[in-house]
Amino acid sequence: MASRKSLTGTEDLADFYNSSLSTYQPVIDKYPMRIHPFVSGLISHDPDGPIARQFIPDMQELSDELGSDDPLAENRQSPVKQIVHRYPDRVVFMVSNTCPSFCRFCMRKRFVGKQPQVTQSDIQDGLAYIARTPQIHEVILSGGEPFMQSNACLLDTMAQLKQMTHVNVIRIHTRVPFLMPERLTADLIEKLRKYHPVYINVHVNHASEITPDACRMITQMADAGFPLGSQTVLLKGVNDCPETMLELMKALLPLRIRPYYIHHLDDTQGTRHFQTDIETGLNIMKCLRGQISGMAVPQFMIDLPNGGGKIPMLPDYVKARTPVSWLFWNYAGKLFEWKRPGKKK
Ligand SMILES: *Cc1c(COP(=O)(O)O)cnc(C)c1O
Repeated sequence: MASRKSLTGTEDLADFYNSSLSTYQPVIDKYPMRIHPFVSGLISHDPDGPIARQFIPDMQELSDELGSDDPLAENRQSPVKQIVHRYPDRVVFMVSNTCPSFCRFCMRKRFVGKQPQVTQSDIQDGLAYIARTPQIHEVILSGGEPFMQSNACLLDTMAQLKQMTHVNVIRIHTRVPFLMPERLTADLIEKLRKYHPVYINVHVNHASEITPDACRMITQMADAGFPLGSQTVLLKGVNDCPETMLELMKALLPLRIRPYYIHHLDDTQGTRHFQTDIETGLNIMKCLRGQISGMAVPQFMIDLPNGGGKIPMLPDYVKARTPVSWLFWNYAGKLFEWKRPGKKK
């Protein structure tokens, strides 16, 4: 089996799996495939494993008629082409339309790998919007993969944001530290830190993505002073069991990555086979709490369209409340009572 080879079409895939996979062609025609050599190297060690499942096309993508191509109605909250402005004080700035590898469960499947690359003038339009909107205090660089932009373009964008006095924080959302670690050279990291405070949230879904190359990268980024957070998408057949999620969260903290969000999967067309019940996520949260450091427990979020935005979801810890007391379940499922101070029973 080929290992470090990029996979972009049915022939590559057939070659990789050493089989005839012409049946995949309709999937790839509808939702393009791209797998970076670093990722195909990981997949070759476990061709049916959790990384393969995230990146290898699946016929089931075509049998999902009900999902939406824009489940969060981002297009309606887009004042200029590359910006989504949903919350008063922060925006998502999609500085790239593409990625080194395409996640099959992508919420932005509608354009990733399909639309032409974001142009300089799109970026300038985005920057102009941020410049004339003083209530924006935080800019989240996302995409696609923001590091698909050239260093020059990315650094220029950061420099322009840095000059806007109302922008206090830049946040970068990326999978590159785990899935294309060579993209982040020591030189680039050194240049990026000029724009501190820069927070980096890494998208990581399974402990098998934590490779020695990635760890080296993450260490350099942490040493360069980027506060690191993680975002994980809850995916059926990848990480939808408590042990798998526990292993991942436990592994992130020693890397100085503070688990931030587990996302319930958006109902994007072509991703239904990854969908879990909300209860699956709540049960995972219940298992995490108490088993591992509270610092390693992320929030479980569901993103709702039409202005709903992200809503945190927690297992029930409150069994009952009365004028004199509250009754709680603890992490182990035992009941405890809290008495309102100063109230007699
Ligand atoms: C997720 C998201 C954010 C960031 O939300 P946080 O809770 O601050 O991480 C901002 N804008 C949009 C449009 C988003 O979807």
